[in-house]
Amino acid sequence: MLNASIGIIVIITSMKEVYIMEISPYYEKKIQCLNCKKEFPTLKVRSKFIKVDHTETDFQPIYADDVNALYYNVFVCEHCGFSFTEDFTKYFAPGVQDELKTQITEKWVHHDFKGERTVFQAIQAYKLAFLCATIKKEKFVATAGLTLRLAWLYRSLKNEGQEQRFMKMSRDLYMDSYSNEDYSTTQMSDVRIMYMIAELSRRIGDIENATRFFSKVIEKQSLGGEAKIIDMAKEQWTLIREEKEKSRQV
Ligand SMILES: [Zn+2]
Repeated sequence: MLNASIGIIVIITSMKEVYIMEISPYYEKKIQCLNCKKEFPTLKVRSKFIKVDHTETDFQPIYADDVNALYYNVFVCEHCGFSFTEDFTKYFAPGVQDELKTQITEKWVHHDFKGERTVFQAIQAYKLAFLCATIKKEKFVATAGLTLRLAWLYRSLKNEGQEQRFMKMSRDLYMDSYSNEDYSTTQMSDVRIMYMIAELSRRIGDIENATRFFSKVIEKQSLGGEAKIIDMAKEQWTLIREEKEKSRQV
């Protein structure tokens, strides 16, 4: 019998013997730092414990229980402080590692993030990764993803000011990604990028860009594919029109 939410397996081997074995939702994984090449442990969530109840209109996953996989996406090197995700490239442009040394490693007070993380530790890890991504000049699409996740973490804390701040940063970075097409070698499609620009614009109150980019998504309908995102864009576009109607009536 497996109770996934608390992770307990009860094994009955005979009428008299009952073993209770606790299975943690987490496991330790050794990661090699992209910067200093040293190894360090980090926690990962076992996939069977990741239960997404639903996703918000900007793809924020809402988990069914307390196991929040989002908290563990960032690897923080305990040796040099370099923090990164699986979206980071292995390549360091000339001079970048020197800059990381002065801006991160020399200021790094040794501490690790290898245990279970609170939402505050997750925020700290994402902020470190955002700083490293900026110094390393990672693709706009990767940096946009980090700031989007920071917005989600602040949303879970109901900190609207910080949520809005990071959504705006994320929207601007997705716009940079869209005009530079730096997402072309990633899993992001142009329809998805346009949808993210539109939906984040709507959420920060930039209705002009929201309408413009939702229309661009809907225009892609004739090409086929990505039907779900196109339907979502239609729904959000209708929402904007309804809100406009409402404000006109007031
Ligand atoms: Zn390192």
